[in-house]
Amino acid sequence: MSRPGELQEVALWRVRLPLRTPLRSGHGTEAHRDLILVAVRAADGTVGWGECSALARPTYTGEFTAAAWLVLRDELAPRVLAGEDLDVVGHPMALAAVRGAVRDADLRRAGRSLTDAVAARLGRPRAAVPHTAVVGRMAVDDLLAAVDARVRAGARLVKLKATPRRDDLDAVAAVRATWPTLALAVDGNGTLDGRAVATLDTLDLTYLEQPVPADDLVGSAELARRCATPIALDESVTSVTALETASALGAGAIVNVKPARLGGVDPAVAVVQRAADVGWPVFVGGLLETGVGRATALALAASSACLLPTDLGPSAAYFAADLTAPIVGDDDGLVVVPTGPGIGVAPDPDRLAAAAVDHVVVTPAAGTAP
Ligand code: MG
Repeated sequence: MSRPGELQEVALWRVRLPLRTPLRSGHGTEAHRDLILVAVRAADGTVGWGECSALARPTYTGEFTAAAWLVLRDELAPRVLAGEDLDVVGHPMALAAVRGAVRDADLRRAGRSLTDAVAARLGRPRAAVPHTAVVGRMAVDDLLAAVDARVRAGARLVKLKATPRRDDLDAVAAVRATWPTLALAVDGNGTLDGRAVATLDTLDLTYLEQPVPADDLVGSAELARRCATPIALDESVTSVTALETASALGAGAIVNVKPARLGGVDPAVAVVQRAADVGWPVFVGGLLETGVGRATALALAASSACLLPTDLGPSAAYFAADLTAPIVGDDDGLVVVPTGPGIGVAPDPDRLAAAAVDHVVVTPAAGTAP
């Protein structure tokens, strides 16, 4: 990953950015994005960027921002500076940030894009990709307006967050009734029950994502046998091994691949390759990333191995002003994949400073400095 003395410092920024629209899902509500950016500075001055996309609270997975800050500051930054293995257990999003920053620096130095590096393993990339509008739980009238706006902006698929509550299921049915041919999906974030799944199964969904808790693969397999709707797994797939187990049990048919959840782009590539072996279509999911995490994940989404629409929409769907140059859509509503060296974007220093609520620089000699 890095050799001793190769890196001069690891800088951490904890940032807080308001979301344009709070995202309500089965695991809680995000109104702000509270996450960590990592910058590594190499001895030759090259800087690489990574993002820890953990949520503020341990609701999606066990990782959360305050804990990730400690893991990054006290474990991963000193180890990467010393050229040691980054062998922490249970913190894939923090790990992905450091791995991503080191990879970004290496690629920038080589003048090569992450998209091309991924394509070397997964096949020719696309310049722009179709995206899914992920729309949170809200009152029916608001939901119909939100879906209408995102479809007009070019989303090719709409994914609604839902719980077994009657109003959520009625809202999904209202969207289906309004757009009978819209490509529509639902994400239960592990909260659904058999009755809710049976109702949703009548709505001609493209897929039903993570209906039951992450560790309930047997339960997911039972639903998959009863449902005509393909089951997509997100939280359940934490590794290649987890994917193989899910596949062996028949617990799903589609996988949501997020580099952050899997510990970085390289483990994510391995999951995409294994998914092809077991015949599961892939889409690249999102975690309300800023431009740094969004560009990183888009390098994977650009691959022709990830053909379902990605959850990574344009920056403007999430933030009034992203920390980097915004990720944008083209005239057809496709999301344009950054092409510059490394991840192709970097934070604007002034916007980063304005959004930062904590900052620390870890160096080999001095340890941690505020
Ligand atoms: Mg999901």
